[in-house]
Amino acid sequence: MSLMDLTAVELGKKIKEGSVGVREAVKDCLKQIRAKEAKTNAFITQADETGVLKRADEVQKAVDSGELTGPLAGVPFAVKDNMCTKGILTTCASKILSNFVPHYSATAVEKLEKAGAIIAGKTNMDEFAMGSTSETSYYGPVKNPWDTDRVPGGSSGGSAAAVAASEVSFALGSDTGGSIRQPAAYCGVTGFKPTYGTVSRYGLIAYASSLEQIGPVAKDVTDCAAVLEVISSYDSKDSTSFNRGVPDFISALDGDVKGLRIGIPKDYFTDDLDPEVNAAVLAAADRMKDMGALAEFFDLSLVEYAVPAYYIIASAEASSNLSRFDGVKYGYRAGDYEGLHQMYKRTRSEGFGEEVKRRIMLGSFALSSGYYDAYYLKALRTKALIKQAFDKAFEKYDVIIGPVAPVTAPKLGGSLSDPIKMYLGDIYTVAANLAGLPGISLPCGRDSNGLPIGLQIMGDCFNERSVLKAAFAFEQTRKQEKSPLACGKEAEV
Ligand code: GLN
Repeated sequence: MSLMDLTAVELGKKIKEGSVGVREAVKDCLKQIRAKEAKTNAFITQADETGVLKRADEVQKAVDSGELTGPLAGVPFAVKDNMCTKGILTTCASKILSNFVPHYSATAVEKLEKAGAIIAGKTNMDEFAMGSTSETSYYGPVKNPWDTDRVPGGSSGGSAAAVAASEVSFALGSDTGGSIRQPAAYCGVTGFKPTYGTVSRYGLIAYASSLEQIGPVAKDVTDCAAVLEVISSYDSKDSTSFNRGVPDFISALDGDVKGLRIGIPKDYFTDDLDPEVNAAVLAAADRMKDMGALAEFFDLSLVEYAVPAYYIIASAEASSNLSRFDGVKYGYRAGDYEGLHQMYKRTRSEGFGEEVKRRIMLGSFALSSGYYDAYYLKALRTKALIKQAFDKAFEKYDVIIGPVAPVTAPKLGGSLSDPIKMYLGDIYTVAANLAGLPGISLPCGRDSNGLPIGLQIMGDCFNERSVLKAAFAFEQTRKQEKSPLACGKEAEV
């Protein structure tokens, strides 16, 4: 058993009580990362040992003096490599940023550091967060700790794998269309995408700015709530940040779902959904009914339009956001060129991977005059209708539950050859991003291959508390399961 097998809140408690030192926690974390990386490839950058131990001593002092009292003080965590970290390489898993060391940190990262959490490294991901498998990284694919022949999901696959393999206590991910929830489901951990505007996007390298949020990837619901309390805040540096006052999420975890109204979209349970996932999700609904919740099926409508609308909007925004990577100010620049135009062309041709180029081309096409109305505007209208459908549903229900993904973790190498099929796999997650809703993914069972199955719970905008309440109550009915890499021999090295 390693300290990294504990939840972040359990570890934080031991540190506060004095039974575990911050240095001890950090050393154990670095040891776990070193031991398991060859199997998971979850990290792009591991923290520099000298620097991180110095930081551990500072945090220890602040804990001892009573200056730091929060639940995460002294707890090591990992940051998805699309969030800026001052003085630490931040690549977005792309060649084009392979030499980028930011001189500032993302607000969410800064908040955690202020709370005494300690950065253990930067996690691997799909290049620019575009993907569902964490295989498009310039630094090679991430492997799933439950079965290293399988993908961990994406794009926050490194964050999910690092937590599932107990390389670290918790991690930050980002979710533009499911990138926290889906890898959490594939790796048997818990991931939370907050309401749009809750967590500052300052310092998050933009993919599709109107859809994405930073959120926790953690071992359980309590850890998600604890991390959310730290990172949720108004930030004048993000113009879409919303002032929600002092966040209070942990107090929602009371295990009581009596009378909670649960809606289950009928349209989610089609032939495209794996029967074992289908059964596990419906069994979870039954369990919540046994606890006194009221659950019923309803017609959500427009479900089939969510993926096309999402991919048009996300690609359109990506094509604009990624225009800044041109080899001029920072990042990779092609070595051999004649004149400015060729420098741009070669830098971007050599610097971006195939999936990123596909999105830039798709987005530029959707935004071009002549096609703007037919694609981009239509997608925006569809987005508005999807939001209306959810507004109507939340008049009747406190939460909506369903699957996270149609299948469990696929084999490595099997998904990228058919991008459309891969995009369709995002069917259950993208709607929450289009409508700005909060959503959690937590384990609800395992399939016949022993792979984790995720349950998704979504709430109305700014109703994180109902989501957390429902998720916590359900979690209490299950024994927490650990991946073979978390409790395997590697853990004792
Ligand atoms: N799979 C989706 C995409 O490729 C979601 C990615 C994300 O949430 N960052 O766009």
